[in-house]
Amino acid sequence: MLAVPASAADVDAGPLTSRDSLFPHQGNGGYNAQSYHLDLTYVRHGHALKGLTTMTARARQDLTSFGLDLEGLNVSRVWVNGVRASFHRGSDKLVVTPVRELRTGSIFTTRIQYAGVPHTHVDPDGSSEGWIPTADGVVALNEPVGAMTWFPNNNTPRDKARYRFTIHAPKRLEVASNGRLVRRTTRHGIGTWHYVMAKPMASYLAFLAIGQFKIHHGRTSDGIRLLSFTDPKVPAPTAALRKLPGILHWLQTQFGPYPFADAGFVDDKIGVDYALETQTRPTFDGTVPITDLVHELAHQWFGDAVTPADWGDIWLNEGFATYTEWLWAARTGESTEDQFTELLAAHPAGDPFWQTPPQDLGDPANLFGNAVYERGAMTLEALRETIGDVAFNTTIRQWYVGHRGQSTSTAEFIDLAEQTSGQDLTSFFHNWLDQPTRPTGW
Ligand SMILES: [Zn+2]
Repeated sequence: MLAVPASAADVDAGPLTSRDSLFPHQGNGGYNAQSYHLDLTYVRHGHALKGLTTMTARARQDLTSFGLDLEGLNVSRVWVNGVRASFHRGSDKLVVTPVRELRTGSIFTTRIQYAGVPHTHVDPDGSSEGWIPTADGVVALNEPVGAMTWFPNNNTPRDKARYRFTIHAPKRLEVASNGRLVRRTTRHGIGTWHYVMAKPMASYLAFLAIGQFKIHHGRTSDGIRLLSFTDPKVPAPTAALRKLPGILHWLQTQFGPYPFADAGFVDDKIGVDYALETQTRPTFDGTVPITDLVHELAHQWFGDAVTPADWGDIWLNEGFATYTEWLWAARTGESTEDQFTELLAAHPAGDPFWQTPPQDLGDPANLFGNAVYERGAMTLEALRETIGDVAFNTTIRQWYVGHRGQSTSTAEFIDLAEQTSGQDLTSFFHNWLDQPTRPTGW
C-alpha cells in the first residue's frame, strides 16, 4: 500500500476544524480572527437578513484557502483584501480561496456579502438557538454554535475577537446588541444602530435583539454605563432594573473590577426557556429573577472575560456562575457549605447524578446538564474546604485577573490552584472532574 502525497493545495489549506472535544466540526484553523464588523439589515417580512460581514484576521500559516462557519444563507460575493475571491460551501462551512496565497503572519480582511432567512439551530439537547423570530422582531442567541446562523465567523470559543455592529431595522423597532451604543440614526424609515464591543468576545456571546422595547439608561457610581431593554408586553422586571447596580458592585467586591465599560440586560418574550450571558448585556426570556440575574452577571467575569477554549471545559463557566448564586444566597441565608452539604445528601453514592463527570461529558447533549452546573459548583466548594478561604479567594481572583480577555483551560485553573495553595491537587481534581463516581476523602 502506498501513501498518496497530499497535493500542494492541500498542504496550505486551513483546517476546517478547531479540534474542539465536543464540537469538532465547529471552528477553523490556520488563522486568528482579530475583529468583525457586522453590517446587517433586518427585513421584517419573513424575518430575513441581508448581511455584509468583514473579518480581519492574522494568518497562522501560509494559506491557499480557509474556512468560516456558516449555516444556511446565500453567499453572493466574497472579497479578500478587497479582491474578489472564489468560495464554496460545505456542511455549515464557507471555504474561501483568495486569488493570492496568504503568508504566515499577514493580516488580511475577508468581506462576505450574503442574504436569506437564517435558520433557528436545534441543539443536541433539543433547545433552540441562533436566529429566533419573535412576535415583534427577532433575537439571535449563540450558545454554543448559533452564531453561524446569522454571520460567517470562526465559531470556536478559542478565537475571541473585537466586534462592531451596524444594524438596520424598521425605525419603529429598537435594536439591542453587545457593548456600547455609539450612535443611532434614522433615514427613509430605517433606523441604524451602531454598537462597539471593544474587548475580545467569543462568537457564542455575540447577540442581537430587535423588537419593540422600553429602553432604560443609567450609570453606576463607579462609571459603568447601563443600557437595558425590556419588552413592554411582559411584566416589567422592576426589581432587576433596581438591583442591577448593586449586584454589579457586589460582584466586583467578590472577583475584581467589572470586565467591561457597559452593562445592562435584555428581557424579551423569546420562547427558548433559558437566559444567556450575552457579553455586557445578558438576555432573559420574559422574566428576570434576581438569582438568574446574579448568575448571568457572574458570567461576565467567568465565561465572557475568561473564556474556556474548549466546550469540554464549560464547567469553568457554569460551575463558577452557580457557585456565585450560592455566594449571593449566603449573604442572607444558607452558607455555601450548607448548599454543598444539601446537594451531597440529595445525591448519595451510586446516584445517576455522579455518572457524568464535568470534564468528561461525552455527548454534547450534556453541555448544560447538572454535572456542569451543580457538580461544577460543588467542585469549587470542595476546593475551598480543601485549600482554605485565603488560597481559594486568591485563586478565584487571580483566575480572573490573570486570564481576562483570553481563552483558557481547566489545566491552567488546576495549575493556579496548586500554585496559590502550595498543594498537589491532582487527585482532588481528578476525583471531582473526571470520575463517574461520587468523590470521597477530599
Ligand atoms: Zn450559566
